[in-house]
Amino acid sequence: MDAPRTPFPYGARLARLRGAMGRAALDALVLTHLPNLRYMTGVSASDGLAVVTAEAATLAVDFRYRTAAEHALAGRQDIALEVIDASFDEWLERHLPGHGVARIGIEAASMTVSRFNRLSTALGASAPFPLERPGPVAALVPTERMVEALRLVKDSAEVAALREAARRLSGVARALPEFARAGRTEQAVAADIDAALRAAGFERPAFETIVASGPNGALPHARPGRRMLQAGDGVVLDFGGVYDGYCVDLTRTLFLGEPEPALRRLFAAVAEAQARALEAVRPGALPSAIDGAARRVLEAHGLGEAFGHATGHGLGLEVHEEPRIGRRLPDRDEAPVEAGMVFTIEPGAYVPGLGGVRIEDDVLVTDEGYEMLTGVPVERPGGRQPGEGSPRGE
Ligand code: ZN
Ligand code: ZN
Repeated sequence: MDAPRTPFPYGARLARLRGAMGRAALDALVLTHLPNLRYMTGVSASDGLAVVTAEAATLAVDFRYRTAAEHALAGRQDIALEVIDASFDEWLERHLPGHGVARIGIEAASMTVSRFNRLSTALGASAPFPLERPGPVAALVPTERMVEALRLVKDSAEVAALREAARRLSGVARALPEFARAGRTEQAVAADIDAALRAAGFERPAFETIVASGPNGALPHARPGRRMLQAGDGVVLDFGGVYDGYCVDLTRTLFLGEPEPALRRLFAAVAEAQARALEAVRPGALPSAIDGAARRVLEAHGLGEAFGHATGHGLGLEVHEEPRIGRRLPDRDEAPVEAGMVFTIEPGAYVPGLGGVRIEDDVLVTDEGYEMLTGVPVERPGGRQPGEGSPRGE
């Protein structure tokens, strides 16, 4: 039986969003990015929108989501439900001017230019004397990251969901040696992982499961194919699940029998890189410093070029969200990590012709440092070998 779930604090989220809207001098905000819609209302839909003003909030969904939305919003006075049978934009055009609002925020990252132009025109046309009077004419204001900024630090209900999700994902990871055996295809192994995710209570995989064996391991985002796993292979297994709406993500690299020495060295370097990055996780650390801790290890092993992606990414309602744990981007400000953030630490090294290694775990930043949410031992290739250099500090 599942333990009772902590209710998500939608009222508090709405209050924080209104605070941010006030600071941006917005009279209304139209939410169209579906994970943001879910974060604010609890309703998961493949289409829909919400309008938030200082006094009211309305969720608009189509007929398919009526029952789910009614259920999710039952007993809540702070958010109204509209079931739209024609066009969301037509409803929006009628609904927004009715609020007498002047500055209407939209989510720039999730609205097409054509939709923006159409809405702007429609709202301008419905305003009184738009040319003569600069008064309360509705204007669409592109906004960035208004809800995403709230989602960065997880509340206690989210932490509970992510902790439970990671615990279940770790259980799936412990079965990997049973799935990844010589003579089986990558596709068969991926199908086993997906079935295990369902059996562990996940709603769905968080992304297409990666099983990359032998030389395919050199492709960080390889799709599982018909290649048969062979003795001596390294196999990169990267998979995730969605539990109670929240995404977790884990990678292990297993070896079938005795790998060649170059692959063993690759593994040792990546394991050390992950350990150093984890040590750097604490409140106040810059993401680029955490990334740098992993990158320096791989560079010292001559693998700087072989590590071509960021060290980690945020987890939550989306499997890739903020914060990005990577190199500092030249044109962007970098905010330090804070307690309550959840992200992956997943350095890797990919060498064409040889293969690849990636090791990925999920962490929660705490006041003291971090809590490892995933818990699976990192197995060394071929067991512990005499004379094999193990990462410092272990
Ligand atoms: Zn992953
Ligand atoms: Zn990941």
